[in-house]
Amino acid sequence: MKTTTVPDLDFSIHNAEEDEEDVVDLAANSLLNKLLRQSLVESSHKVEVLQKDPKSPLYSVKTFEELRLKEELLKGIYAMGFNRPSKIQEMALPMMLAHPPQNLIAQSQSGTGKTAAFVLAMLSRVNALDLFPQCLCLAPTYELALQTGRVVEQMGRFCVDVQVMYAVRGNPIPRSTDLTKQIIIGTPGTVLHWFFKRKLFDLTKIRVFVLDEADVMIDTQGFSDQSIRIQRALSPGCQMLLFSATFEDSVWQFAERIIPDPNVIKLRREELTLDNIRQYYVLCEEPKDKYHALCNIYGGITIGQAIIFCQTRKSAKWLTVAMIQDGHQVALLSGELTVDQRACILQSFRDGKEKVLITTNVCARGIDVKQVTIVVNFDLPVNQLEEPDYETYLHRIGRTGRFGKKGLAFNMIEVNKLPLLMKIQDHFNSSIKQLDPEDLDEIE
Ligand code: ADP
Repeated sequence: MKTTTVPDLDFSIHNAEEDEEDVVDLAANSLLNKLLRQSLVESSHKVEVLQKDPKSPLYSVKTFEELRLKEELLKGIYAMGFNRPSKIQEMALPMMLAHPPQNLIAQSQSGTGKTAAFVLAMLSRVNALDLFPQCLCLAPTYELALQTGRVVEQMGRFCVDVQVMYAVRGNPIPRSTDLTKQIIIGTPGTVLHWFFKRKLFDLTKIRVFVLDEADVMIDTQGFSDQSIRIQRALSPGCQMLLFSATFEDSVWQFAERIIPDPNVIKLRREELTLDNIRQYYVLCEEPKDKYHALCNIYGGITIGQAIIFCQTRKSAKWLTVAMIQDGHQVALLSGELTVDQRACILQSFRDGKEKVLITTNVCARGIDVKQVTIVVNFDLPVNQLEEPDYETYLHRIGRTGRFGKKGLAFNMIEVNKLPLLMKIQDHFNSSIKQLDPEDLDEIE
């Protein structure tokens, strides 16, 4: 076993007030997922459908041909490598492409094919010969708008003459310009500005209105109200579509306010579970012992790939420096990095270039690195009241039941934090065994 010296660093950081915690930034995580996504996310659940008119027949499609799309659009879909509709697309596409147009609220986790579905709907309803905006898609950030725009460009690559324009801050439009591009993707504030203040385009001519990432949208101050103002200016015949990766009550309330007479489609995500995770804790007298304990199990954890979670940026940075000084190859991912930098680090970790990733809560949710089988809580997740943060614990450690490989979780616990760990154990009704860091044979 490797013996280590603790670098001469300040352990008092754990109490320092300026020691910043990373808040989960939904828009950044969503973008990160898009940048890293390589393929569709599967789900073992059935798609739930709630039709606005339960008596009308329910169509689903197994092939893109059945949708009777324009030739050039079908070509674009196949050129993207799509062979058949995803689970959510099977149900959503016939509704979205129906005549007369139907409104839709759809919820399914990120990566299940929502963007591709509404891009297809926009492209199939656009008339390239009409030189004015006909489709409007609201996104929570410039970067997310850009990602959607890329999909429009890819899927619409054979739809010559169909063009996209971004209504985002920093995209100046000269005075008295008439917008001639057919698809506008933008953030609510700029779209409002372009329409109400600058009168650059006519919202009543929009045929398809998409509100993407509704859960991220309502998380941003002012965006719900702005979106509703935009929606109210649309014509009654405009098709309205809303998408969300999650569906808390707040999203649902917003969705029902903004989308009249909707059909609803839901695809439940795979549940996170601790069932196939063996959980351990190492009791430490004081903070610096946590480092010793970690180094002692280090050989064990680097058999696979591991993520080490710290509560604050400073703690994560400190640990990274200490481990590098000790000769370990680790990567650091924390909230001060740009999304592009984060994507780069995560990609390198995914590619196996580092065995260990040290991070904060910035990485606890929504970002899947499937091959990680070992998680270390260098700091236990707690909320502002210093109570255990159960949700975050589950997100850090839990795996989806269906795809769950077996996993290992280690908690480095200072003596005074032990009651918190016991609460976590009770909450999940799953056992967390004590481990002697000098004797790893205890790990079954
Ligand atoms: P979401 O909007 O739900 O996050 P996306 O539409 O971005 O999902 O799709 C996730 C990934 O799956 C993307 O890489 C996309 O290109 C791909 N994809 C979408 N639909 C299909 C399909 N029918 N067949 C194969 N890949 C698909």
